[in-house]
Amino acid sequence: MHPVTAPPIEDGAVLVDTTGRIAAVGPHAHIPTPPGTETREFRDGVLVPGLVNCHTHLELTHLAGQNAEPEFAKWIRRIRELKDATPPEGFEEAAVAGVKDCWARGVTCIAETGSTGAVMRALHDLGGRGIVYQEVFGPDPAKRDASMQELEEVVTRLRLLTTDRVLLGVSPHAPYTVSAPLYEAVVAFARRERLPIAVHLAESKEESEFVRDGAGPFADAWRARGFGVVAHGCSPVQYLRQRGVLDPGVLCIHCVQVGAPDVAILAAAGAAIAHCPRSNRAHTHGSAPLAAFRTAGLRVGLGTDSVVSVGDLDLWAEAQAAGLDREEALRALTLDGARALGWERDIGSLEIGKEADLAVFPGDLRRPSPSSAALTVLAGRIVHQA
Ligand SMILES: [Zn+2]
Repeated sequence: MHPVTAPPIEDGAVLVDTTGRIAAVGPHAHIPTPPGTETREFRDGVLVPGLVNCHTHLELTHLAGQNAEPEFAKWIRRIRELKDATPPEGFEEAAVAGVKDCWARGVTCIAETGSTGAVMRALHDLGGRGIVYQEVFGPDPAKRDASMQELEEVVTRLRLLTTDRVLLGVSPHAPYTVSAPLYEAVVAFARRERLPIAVHLAESKEESEFVRDGAGPFADAWRARGFGVVAHGCSPVQYLRQRGVLDPGVLCIHCVQVGAPDVAILAAAGAAIAHCPRSNRAHTHGSAPLAAFRTAGLRVGLGTDSVVSVGDLDLWAEAQAAGLDREEALRALTLDGARALGWERDIGSLEIGKEADLAVFPGDLRRPSPSSAALTVLAGRIVHQA
């Protein structure tokens, strides 16, 4: 058993109370079994905290393998076409399948960005845990108010689905899909409504070119649609700081195209990073400077991004792609992920009083690829059993 905040325990056990919290944790022989306790034993397995996936698009689960476009700007456009061709129930089914796939992999908490609300409904209906950032797009400054009105309506509707374990946030998508006035309006709205923010940031070289020089494929696409393009003369991170987006608690997804000044800005802002090494590699964006993030004291969790980008929701593969060994990987996928999402008081380690989000993987951590779990428990409830 790996509690994460304490050394590994050979033949360890946890006791979960009736409220779904951890009541005892330690060597099996020291853990009481009050009358009525249901016991489960895994002789050849490792018990760890439930994993945290800091960046998903589970509403796109049905689109795995369907976008082979190598150029990023065109890939983004193709995603929009594929989404437009999906009926509403397609997103609902994708979301349910995605949440169950996470559970089968020992993942008990996700940070989703999406535009359909399907994952919010799936988490609510299935009893999952996660934060869903409702995406907003709008490159045309003239349509800012319309975009905001739509966002506010959707947020009002989705708020009815929030629970202690299903949280709602907002996500102005990315610098090449959101106008400067829309960023500022979303930030003001999020502050007013106390909603956390996630942004795709500094992902591709094309994004940097767009922000800094007002050039490249994203700029061409904006001009073709009649939107003004400004050369801001700065990096995407600097640009979002100027828009007021980089507050403590903001989740910055990708952050590949960042220099030392950008890392310092993110650290000073108290931002968290969703590091998605396999997606960054698949789109040939490059590698994010994980060591520099950590040295700067940034909170960093790992995310798979969508299955359209990476093919599956294998967080252990992300940790491997990030160059982490098994012990480091476990911490990154549990406590660090929980911290990145501001959830570390409740989950991320096996400690008395925390919610019982648990995963059992076959074998031990030294063996490769424990990607499917033998058992997954979410707040004391079994949500997956192999
Ligand atoms: Zn993404």
